[in-house]
Amino acid sequence: MRGSFTIAEVAGIQIKIHITFLLLILIFGKWFFFVLAIFFFVTLHELAHSLVAKSFGIQVREITLLPIGGVASMTKLPDKPYQEFLISLAGPLTNIAIVVIFYFPLKHLVGPDVFFAGFRSLFGGIILTNNPGLILTEIYWINLMLAGFNLLPAFPMDGGRILRSLMAQKLGFQRATKVAVNFGHAFAILFGYLGLVQGRLMLLIIAVFIYMAAASEEMQVDVRSILRKFRARDLLPQQFVTVSEQATLSNVLELMFHSRQEDFPVVDSQNRMAGFVTRYDVMNGIHQHGVHHPVSAVMRRDVKSLTGDETLDQVQEMMQSNEIKALPVVRDATVIGIISTDDIARVYSMAAGRS
Ligand SMILES: [Zn+2]
Repeated sequence: MRGSFTIAEVAGIQIKIHITFLLLILIFGKWFFFVLAIFFFVTLHELAHSLVAKSFGIQVREITLLPIGGVASMTKLPDKPYQEFLISLAGPLTNIAIVVIFYFPLKHLVGPDVFFAGFRSLFGGIILTNNPGLILTEIYWINLMLAGFNLLPAFPMDGGRILRSLMAQKLGFQRATKVAVNFGHAFAILFGYLGLVQGRLMLLIIAVFIYMAAASEEMQVDVRSILRKFRARDLLPQQFVTVSEQATLSNVLELMFHSRQEDFPVVDSQNRMAGFVTRYDVMNGIHQHGVHHPVSAVMRRDVKSLTGDETLDQVQEMMQSNEIKALPVVRDATVIGIISTDDIARVYSMAAGRS
């Protein structure tokens, strides 16, 4: 996500903080430790989503922390509604588990009066206090707030996804998304109205976020349903250029200028694919080793190839999870084409324009 920077890495997942998260620090001032506590519990919440997603084979590259919660960027949407249901539920369930586990120990520690006073002051919006016990319980009750807020049945909240997964069984994924998006928009309008009437800036920000997230969710599902109608082989035959294993980086650079291609399959003397080289690999190779370096020394040997039977949404997922902008189509060890993100975008804009 643009405007975010990495602060940690857990289980191969980058944890990033979005610049708007700093708004919270501005709002809270010297009470910034609340921000840190929210930050900590939101991270746990997102890690729970991510670990369940990973158990279903969905890669999670990063978690971005926003003022209204976190977003775990998954390389694809879950295939089955029950997977989306479990992934979405895991986050709020983590916060509820924290509430349950620490309920009696904390109540015992600070005493029931302070314990429930913490609940009232947090949910009443008056959280400023110098009483350490009260601060501790307020931080504890943040988990209930996070669980409750995330269970609202509106995108991008988990409740919206849970709602969609439940409706998807009957309505199908796309129609279920439309209904959940409408819920999201309705909540956004409600929050926006309350924010204006009560003069609460935070509610207005949340309203805008929910509105945009609902719209982008709908867009993502529409794109997927269009791309799913096409297969990689529908984009073939096509003109493309390959690079010989013996070529140098300067040869590839020249090809890049004369063809409209940026990524090239590298082939051996029998025209079989030996590797794949991207614009980035070439530029990086030139920077490190100079233009006379052989391409075979910088090419990728482990790049996935397509058979042509993959649908374009699958191709797009493969590109995202491999962080590459093009993939070769290979038949009998021979490269018969290259599919790039530009090709996919072109197919999408043609198909979307027609419908
Ligand atoms: Zn969540």
